[in-house]
Amino acid sequence: MFSGYHHHPIVAIYYYPNPEKWDHAQVARDLAEIVGAQIQAIWLFFDPFYDHAAPDRLRELLDDAQRLGLEVVPVLGQFLQLAEHPEVKIVNADGTTSDDPRFWNMGCFRHPKVVELATARAVGFLRDFGSHPALYRLEGKPVMSFVHETYYRNSVPEFGGKAMQPSCYCEHCQAAFRDYLARHGLNPAAVPPRDASDPVLWQHWQNCHAEAIPAFLTFTRRRGSRSTPATTGGAWEP
Ligand SMILES: [Zn+2]
Repeated sequence: MFSGYHHHPIVAIYYYPNPEKWDHAQVARDLAEIVGAQIQAIWLFFDPFYDHAAPDRLRELLDDAQRLGLEVVPVLGQFLQLAEHPEVKIVNADGTTSDDPRFWNMGCFRHPKVVELATARAVGFLRDFGSHPALYRLEGKPVMSFVHETYYRNSVPEFGGKAMQPSCYCEHCQAAFRDYLARHGLNPAAVPPRDASDPVLWQHWQNCHAEAIPAFLTFTRRRGSRSTPATTGGAWEP
């Protein structure tokens, strides 16, 4: 566990540049404005630079940030689009799927394609830029953020959609539930409940669901750790 970091709080903002529409001069102006506002760091959504195969632009941005004394926390954001990977959609209790791509709906975090793409993106950044001096570090290790909407986005109630549903019934989540039941000495043949009429089984189903994102992040961290250059001071996270 890190300690003492609260003695040096940072003031940071999210920054989501579009390398396809914004030229280097625009980014440089933005960074200068950010520094002028006495902001110390940016949380940088770096996915667009990979989506548009613009690693040189990303390096320019990091170099500019370093010159300005601005620290950078890379944010792993929208590493896939549902339109391109509809197979990853969350399966709701009523059999419908999470079709709305807004608000970081990246599908089921247990789907192998989601894990593969997220890991490749995190590993790619750390491989390419993990030793860049502009990166914000704790105990010598670069910090990477994952978007805060790291839960199952199966609707957009903010824009009039239905209330979000608490779980996913895809084949991968059903398999995970069988494993969960076996691990807990329960009947692995129990079918995932669709409602809370059996409150004990429902609680187990919810507990199992709650393991999905931590497991996804743990896996991604381990892969990223192996790809972090040794010059950064060691593993990203064990
Ligand atoms: Zn699922």
